[in-house]
Amino acid sequence: MSRIIAIANQKGGVGKTTTAVNLAACTAVAERPTLLIDIDPQANATSGIGLAKEELRSSVYEVLIGEAPIRDAIVTAPDLPFLHVLPSHQRLIGAEIELVNIMARETRLKRALAEISNDYHYILIDCPPSLGLLTINTLTAAHSVLVPIQCEYYALEGLGQLLNSIRLVQRNLNPELRIEGILLTMYDGRLNLAKQVADEARRYFGDRVYRTMIPRNVRLGEAPSFGQPIIIYDILSAGAESYIQLAKELMFQGETADAVPTAGAAA
Ligand code: ATP
Ligand code: MG
Repeated sequence: MSRIIAIANQKGGVGKTTTAVNLAACTAVAERPTLLIDIDPQANATSGIGLAKEELRSSVYEVLIGEAPIRDAIVTAPDLPFLHVLPSHQRLIGAEIELVNIMARETRLKRALAEISNDYHYILIDCPPSLGLLTINTLTAAHSVLVPIQCEYYALEGLGQLLNSIRLVQRNLNPELRIEGILLTMYDGRLNLAKQVADEARRYFGDRVYRTMIPRNVRLGEAPSFGQPIIIYDILSAGAESYIQLAKELMFQGETADAVPTAGAAA
């Protein structure tokens, strides 16, 4: 069965999309059949992996509102035969409102994924920066959540809110939901602040924090404008190295993902 991992943090710009695109590319290169789902109306993962929105027949939007079967909306990523993509589209902006009146609105994605539950090794879902219905659909469909944290001021602020949402989903919709891991992103070892954020995250989340930290790396920032994951854009960059390491951690970690902590202590 597929391992479904939500990449979520309602804080904007923390590296969710960069992680979704590059981690998915790395597991695909390791020949694990992987599906990247872009459930953010910004559609950054869709363009970042090299798909032109004009050329796509349908998107996750049509799947969520029941207008297209999921298999019809999935396409193969350019240059990566083991990576498939369920793309997003701006139309998805409307879904947050339209879904409100649809039956079983929180379980739309889960139902759609049930049709392809044995097709992939990993299904990685790039969430929007909010805790709205799209993120709730994702947390309801997922086995676990990977939380990227940017090593900056206020990094841990708001994390309590995310953990609360995770707990709510656990209680009402998806009791099996686990924290897959906490990923420190845009890490700059020269900065005391980055080290402090990393220390604090490790104090609170212990070994749920990945050993791999994603460095701040110019090449990672450039790759999306070429529509390429970092392992294609610049395999020798520090950014590529870090996502390859992360993929190895993910693949070897297996099913040891831990329970969600109960204290709301993360600021
Ligand atoms: P949003 O909340 O808007 O969806 P996000 O959490 O998906 O944002 P990204 O889009 O992945 O965040 O990253 C934000 C910006 O930082 C992007 O321009 C991205 O290219 C850049 N970026 C991400 N990670 C790194 C990194 N490790 N080094 C340098 N730049 C990075
Ligand atoms: Mg994003």
